Amino acid sequence: MRKKIVAGNWKMNGTQEEGQKLTSEIVNMVKDEPVNDVTIVLNPPFVHASNVKKLIGDASNIFLGGQNCSDKASGAFTGEVSAPILASFGASYVILGHSERREYFKESNELLTEKVKQALENGLTPIFCCGEPLEIREAGTHEAYVKDQLTESLFGLSEADFEKIVIAYEPIWAIGTGKTATSEQAQDMHAAIRAHIASKYGQELADKISILYGGSCKPSNAQEIFSKPDVDGGLIGGASLKSRDFVDIIKSF
Ligand code: 13P
Repeated sequence: MRKKIVAGNWKMNGTQEEGQKLTSEIVNMVKDEPVNDVTIVLNPPFVHASNVKKLIGDASNIFLGGQNCSDKASGAFTGEVSAPILASFGASYVILGHSERREYFKESNELLTEKVKQALENGLTPIFCCGEPLEIREAGTHEAYVKDQLTESLFGLSEADFEKIVIAYEPIWAIGTGKTATSEQAQDMHAAIRAHIASKYGQELADKISILYGGSCKPSNAQEIFSKPDVDGGLIGGASLKSRDFVDIIKSF
């Protein structure tokens, strides 16, 4: 059985007070309402890490994650946060290669290889994002595009390391646009990603990898998307900022 994961990516949102309120509400709802066996990850802006970790407390199914980490372990890199720092604040996960990082901060597949290594060396589970822009989808070359992202960033990893990776497929045209991929489009890409992993690492390992969908996921469409056989959860942006919506998405499994 693959791990089911719902991760909230707060992006650059939330004052200290708002972050605390959101976290407390989620933690309390998850305590009171049955959420089956879903692993929940909260990925706030870095400065919230300590507060969020404290509020998660001893909840055994909620984890802290980062939205990015440096490709270096430490040193004179003003404004950066390293994997060892994140781990020291109790983080278990880190989102890497989000399309916003790729676009606005020019993160390349090669750089992401180094970030993934840093995460793994420090015991963090990378949530590795991939996904195509609209023009690639319209040209019909989206599967090849996403496979190249995975090959270039991840296929140098050993089997033991690859097994620790979580993949998030986020079609860029569906992020923050309200335009969700159909559940068939998500399933087709997730199956293609799994087949690609199997071609390199074998079917047994590919069957263990959780592949999350991200892009305008909300309570009204989560159940349909999560019902697909190769969709193992979601990476949620906007809807993760509303506790009720986020927990309803978690409960969609
Ligand atoms: P939205 O859910 O706001 O479309 O964002 C998706 C996303 O980018 C999550 O990382």
